[in-house]
Amino acid sequence: MQIYRIPVLSDNYIFLLHDAEQKLAAVVDPAEAAPVLQLLKQLGAELSAIFNTHHHGDHVGGNLELLRQFPQAVVYGGAEDRGRIPGQQVFLQAGDQVSFGGRQAEVLFVPGHTRAHIAYYFPPASEPIGELFCGDTLFAGGCGRLFEGTPSQMVDSLSQLRALPDQTRVWCAHEYTLKNLQFALTVDDQNPVLQTRFEQVKQARQQSESTVPSWIGLEKQTNPFLRWDLPALQAATQTVDPVRSFAKLRGLKDIF
Ligand code: ZN
Ligand code: FE
Repeated sequence: MQIYRIPVLSDNYIFLLHDAEQKLAAVVDPAEAAPVLQLLKQLGAELSAIFNTHHHGDHVGGNLELLRQFPQAVVYGGAEDRGRIPGQQVFLQAGDQVSFGGRQAEVLFVPGHTRAHIAYYFPPASEPIGELFCGDTLFAGGCGRLFEGTPSQMVDSLSQLRALPDQTRVWCAHEYTLKNLQFALTVDDQNPVLQTRFEQVKQARQQSESTVPSWIGLEKQTNPFLRWDLPALQAATQTVDPVRSFAKLRGLKDIF
């Protein structure tokens, strides 16, 4: 399974999964149809699945046009998103499995950014690398804003993602990394891994390079929203309570 990253809108990513043998493709969160159709044509592949993580327009905007072009494609989304995802046919819950390209993905229920948000986790297959499509729940160096969920839900959701193996690629839906790490340094400035990462990301962005995917292992070392229980973050948020610490951090980021 080959994964392509398609930059769209101002800072979104659509991910296209390609099964070259079967000449099939799946897309994750198609904000727009045109760039997906173009890549499908280039690859000579048919679209067989649309995997949505949540209902926001910049994640589902291309669903209907893609369905018009590939009526056999199946549209997946969270069960709680019923009525909010255009063309949705499959209503997924925690623990459900979806398959593509000979791989099985586990569905994780990760509310917080929205009340219905899900993520797709492909465990390692032939290579020891897992793939996580987490939409707007976890970002490289940050996490999604809480539009419909509570801090306690988001801590639970991020805990599930933090528990995945270090060798998991994090395919998040936005290029927010530089700003996220700028914020991270305001609360975790003595962290040498974070300092190094910030310099690398700054350079990458100066050359218009993408910083996605990230890795769970790297996120655990540098993302303040996965580190609410570490002394430095507890000091910065002045509480040892995980949910309060997270809420304080999220509040600071909202106005950063
Ligand atoms: Zn969103
Ligand atoms: Fe988004």
